[in-house]
Amino acid sequence: MAPGVERSFTAASTLEEAMAARRQGAAVLAGGTCMMRDPRRGIDLPEAVVALHRIPALSKVEIEPDHVVIGAAVTHVVLGRALHGAAGFEGLVAAAQGAANPGIRRVATVGGNLCAFDFAAADLSPALLVCEATVELETFKGPKLLGISDFLKDRHTLLTEAIVTRIHLRRDLIASAHIRLPLRKAGDYPVAIVSLAVDKDKRCRIAVGSVEPVARRWTALEQAMAAGPPSALDPERAAGFALEHNDFQGRDGREAEGWYRRQVLPPLVKRGVAALLKTEGLA
Ligand SMILES: Cc1cc2nc3c(=O)[nH]c(=O)nc-3n(C[C@H](O)[C@H](O)[C@H](O)COP(=O)(O)OP(=O)(O)OC[C@H]3O[C@@H](n4cnc5c(N)ncnc54)[C@H](O)[C@@H]3O)c2cc1C
Repeated sequence: MAPGVERSFTAASTLEEAMAARRQGAAVLAGGTCMMRDPRRGIDLPEAVVALHRIPALSKVEIEPDHVVIGAAVTHVVLGRALHGAAGFEGLVAAAQGAANPGIRRVATVGGNLCAFDFAAADLSPALLVCEATVELETFKGPKLLGISDFLKDRHTLLTEAIVTRIHLRRDLIASAHIRLPLRKAGDYPVAIVSLAVDKDKRCRIAVGSVEPVARRWTALEQAMAAGPPSALDPERAAGFALEHNDFQGRDGREAEGWYRRQVLPPLVKRGVAALLKTEGLA
């Protein structure tokens, strides 16, 4: 920390207050688990920060019969507990309950996980991609809704003047699963992540995280799997398609090289389909 720099911290009680702080140049401070590492990456900590956890609408999970709304300041622990047992959200629950370690999960938020744009190993990104989530932002020009794929691609620019406020999910899934490959048993970043879901029309959605810099849907595999009947959802068959349609460019990183991240995808798909078949919705 540079000597003599005055730091300011605001815990906003309303979104208007938070946006006023943003207009003055404050960065959003969520759990701080990513931001705390900025100095180690050679990035100065922001001089002003605004926290969102006191804004009631951003700190709760609303579960309705046809949709779910998740506040950006909801922590991984709260998200996992809130959706535990909700049919179709098994994958999102596994992502919230399996990421990082218990201490991080208690403070790290949904918003922070999606907004840490130089962090490729975010578990919630692929899990929310298969939910086809909509991201709600508050910008200097007013509220904005964006599909999660577009948000993830454009967030670097969007976040210069926005706050992620809520994540909206339809309840149109009958089953989902989330498979991650850390190199140790726990506590480190996953080398590759595969999230899978089956919707009410029995269509399979698949997304991959940590393999490329930004998580994305695996459309080539989704299309290959859609060609067969829903009854053909089979782990071996899916792994075969994953091998044939592997169009990922693995990123080299400290935990693993790109070729390895790419290569582990078929076995992760196999595990993912096996996990899907064990859910209540497909059993
Ligand atoms: C040891 C360790 C292991 C980890 N392992 C994993 C793992 O396995 N899987 C995983 O998914 N994650 C992992 N993480 C990351 C962690 O789970 C958090 O998701 C992530 O660090 C950010 O969450 P945060 O709430 O702490 O955000 P912060 O650090 O507070 O913020 C991160 C960035 O997002 C911005 N931001 C935060 N909220 C908003 C918002 N609502 N609107 C606009 N901008 C916002 C901040 O300004 C900042 O730039 C790990 C972290 C650590 C330290």
